[in-house]
Amino acid sequence: MSERFDVVIVGSGPVGAAFARRLAETTRMSILIVEAGRDLMGSGGTNIRNLAPADREIAYTEARDFALARTDGLAIPDAALKARPGTFLLRHDALSTPDDRGMPAAAMSSNLGGMGAHWTCACPRPGDSERIGFIPDTVMDAAFDIAESYLNVIQDGFPANATTSFVVEALRRDFGADRASDRQPQPMPLACRKGQGGPIWSGVDVVLGPLDSPEGRAARRTTLLTETLCRRVVMDDNRATGVELQNLTTGEISVVEAGFVVIAADALRTPQLLFASGVRPDALGRYLNDQPQVISLIELAPDRDWQGDSARETTDQRDNVTGVSWLPFKDGNFPFHAQLMQMDTSPIPLEPRADGNGRPVVGLGLFAAKEIRAEDRIVFDGEDALGLPRMRLEYGLTAADREKLRLASDIVAAVGASLGQVIGDPIVLPAGTSLHYQGTHRIGPSDDGTSVCDPASKVWGTSNLYLGGNGSIPTATACNPTLTAVALAVIAADDIASRHAG
Ligand code: FAD
Repeated sequence: MSERFDVVIVGSGPVGAAFARRLAETTRMSILIVEAGRDLMGSGGTNIRNLAPADREIAYTEARDFALARTDGLAIPDAALKARPGTFLLRHDALSTPDDRGMPAAAMSSNLGGMGAHWTCACPRPGDSERIGFIPDTVMDAAFDIAESYLNVIQDGFPANATTSFVVEALRRDFGADRASDRQPQPMPLACRKGQGGPIWSGVDVVLGPLDSPEGRAARRTTLLTETLCRRVVMDDNRATGVELQNLTTGEISVVEAGFVVIAADALRTPQLLFASGVRPDALGRYLNDQPQVISLIELAPDRDWQGDSARETTDQRDNVTGVSWLPFKDGNFPFHAQLMQMDTSPIPLEPRADGNGRPVVGLGLFAAKEIRAEDRIVFDGEDALGLPRMRLEYGLTAADREKLRLASDIVAAVGASLGQVIGDPIVLPAGTSLHYQGTHRIGPSDDGTSVCDPASKVWGTSNLYLGGNGSIPTATACNPTLTAVALAVIAADDIASRHAG
């Protein structure tokens, strides 16, 4: 392996992969991607949900093995609070309740593709105050177009069926007033392609595109190392000169020189690596925000005869979702991102209907935009089992957040009345459940101490150190963040390309 690359990218999730692809497509730079986790089932970063159920379970076990072996038990899920398959919890506050200061459900993934090997692929564009005001709309929209092409975002991944049509039409009737045409209730934009038995979900293989094979990478001067931990970025004053890497199989430590360094290691571990490297701007790890989440179930139109309209039968319980609809965020009266998943089975146990009817049930998930505060943050204290700074999360809801959760109950009732009837009470999920952690290395319009990076994601005061991921997002968003993070990576990669050329 070369000991110098034009750019080293830490993290192989959708964001690290987008940096690599953009730079490979627009420059002749040599690129190294380093990933701490392994290639699950040798599947090359595919979305694990595309694997056959037996293989998928092996992949989940492999993902869990990383956590058990490498994080000194941090990964063991508490019985009362299970990590989503493919993820592991930051255990330190796993036992606290949703009302405590802390983020009990905080989780991460370590494998080729990061969380992007496990995600559910909802890719809405942000709207209104979710958007980043200091990036011109034309620039952001052009970056969204590229991000959507990298992730392969489409709106017709699921075959049309009576249930999803009913949902979208009812929501347009009751929630469509005063909304622009692109912010109307609609099928969810999903990162996938159409397949015989339903969508084939985008993983990081799709984002890598032409870099998704050893031959493709070789042709584009790109090297991918899995099971390789970045321990720190080597800094010389304001310049990143390389990275210190540890081969997690052999334990061997080496230094690789770099012209540019990109850290795309998720919203928790990107700040962790910066801290470990002695780069510690005031805003680092602060402004942590997760999207408070409320879920409920709605039985559709009790007075309609649904016989014959019922959703397809699926044999795989985990993927029993036959359509996803989207009710977008709107400033003022709808400060939520709502997604409705039609389900043949439910994550919440359902009592059998007394009349044995076949009426469809949708799961309604509301994500709220959280009030952003500097005191919601990652605290670094001591060392973790990998020798990196140990993380503790200080995090809580404000009075405004609690009011918003109360409003969420009203919205659930209103959506329920629009579509049919709500089953049971809405459930507020523990902090961290959204897996959409943002703000911890956010971009900003000026170096005033409230941001870590400039609008092109370069760390303030450095000449060649870039960050990527949901932690870059500075606004209070309710929508799923990956599309935005990938778009910001495209803007950042273009900045690197222009500096490299210059
Ligand atoms: P990640 O995908 O988390 O990748 C970061 C990688 O960096 C990891 O593989 C990690 O091992 C590696 N890394 C960290 N530290 C180091 C180090 N020191 N050295 C080397 N490597 C390191 N988002 C949406 O927008 N829509 C959805 O519908 C959605 N659904 C989801 C469902 C599930 C079940 C999960 C788990 C996530 C979901 N998400 C969703 C979140 C989405 O997956 C993340 O937003 C996305 O993966 C973030 O990409 P990333 O590249 O920034 O980070």
